Amino acid sequence: MFEMPKSLESHETDYIYKVYRNIIGLGILLHVAYALLFGMFQYQLGCLYNIGSVIFYITMLFIAIKKQRYTLVVTLIHLESHLFVCLHTLMYGWEGSFYMLLVAMASLVYFCPYKRTYIPYLISVFYFIMFFILRIYTLNYDPWFVINPIFTHVIFFCNCIGSFSIILYVAYVSKVNAAVSQKELRIQNDNLQQLADYDQLTGLYNRHYLKEIFKEGIKENKVLAIGDIDDFKLINDQYGHICGDQILRELSEQMRQFFDSDVFLCRWGGEEFVFIFSKTDLNKVQKELIDFCQWIEERDFYFENHVIHITLTFGISENNEEMNLTQWIEEADQLLYKGKKAGKNKVLVE
Ligand code: GH3
Ligand code: MG
Ligand code: MG
Repeated sequence: MFEMPKSLESHETDYIYKVYRNIIGLGILLHVAYALLFGMFQYQLGCLYNIGSVIFYITMLFIAIKKQRYTLVVTLIHLESHLFVCLHTLMYGWEGSFYMLLVAMASLVYFCPYKRTYIPYLISVFYFIMFFILRIYTLNYDPWFVINPIFTHVIFFCNCIGSFSIILYVAYVSKVNAAVSQKELRIQNDNLQQLADYDQLTGLYNRHYLKEIFKEGIKENKVLAIGDIDDFKLINDQYGHICGDQILRELSEQMRQFFDSDVFLCRWGGEEFVFIFSKTDLNKVQKELIDFCQWIEERDFYFENHVIHITLTFGISENNEEMNLTQWIEEADQLLYKGKKAGKNKVLVE
């Protein structure tokens, strides 16, 4: 009766996939900007490379959405980033400031859907090594192309925007991810609490919960009633266990409808129920239970094409200060037993 939420792991995987789809979108935008920029400054090779990158990212988006091969897509994106930064630094030198993208991309690897946890660290190390190799290389060798000084400023600005966009997006995603995970965790906790406190067949409180609320003793004066369906075994034997279960469910629904919301309704076990009333007048509780028993006795319970009637027997007891829950139930149970012996369908009071 309680729906289990999606596991945290699968929620996180879905979320990482969404992040990477957005990253691919960002990649397409950045490479379109680079292609235009290189085109404007007549760097044909750079322009062509970036047109190729746009095609590559569109292909990645297709593979991600249609084929769901995210691990492959993520690996290829990081390889492309290495290649992009490496080639562009060789072509336009350290001044081109493409190394900034290495730093930004290194922060992104921790959102990879890799099963082996060391892989993101490994990719980060590659970014780190690449950064150093490129720096040492550019200190010793000139770039392939002579760079227009205005282009240096423009590309610096563009790389700044690109790198900061990636880092800011990663920061945003981390925050949202943490908040969503916490919410999921709360929902899972609530569901586990539901499973622990409620009886799964009837939806009433269970024995565990009743014991839990009175584990520190019974502070106020209350009235407890324990009830048991009469000859329930016969119903099971005659119509089957499924019929018995259906009656238990329907009877519990009747209880919820009949009693005020301040009456604590618990399935003690099997076909036994414990009710706790805040009222302290035993006679009033007895009268209410007699009315309930009469209401149930007159009610038709249906199973397939059978009409079934049931009756209940109750024992009622009031607590005193020294009593614990077990003693309190025991006292009411003795009366219930007496009621059974006296012919069932009775409400006995101490
Ligand atoms: P009495 O009037 O003395 O209470 O007789 P009874 O037949 O109700 O009592 P007994 O304790 O002999 O049998 C209780 C039956 O309740 C036996 C068990 O199969 C049935 N029962 C207990 N829990 C469930 C349940 O969850 N579903 C179904 N269908 N039957 C249950
Ligand atoms: Mg019974
Ligand atoms: Mg019983």
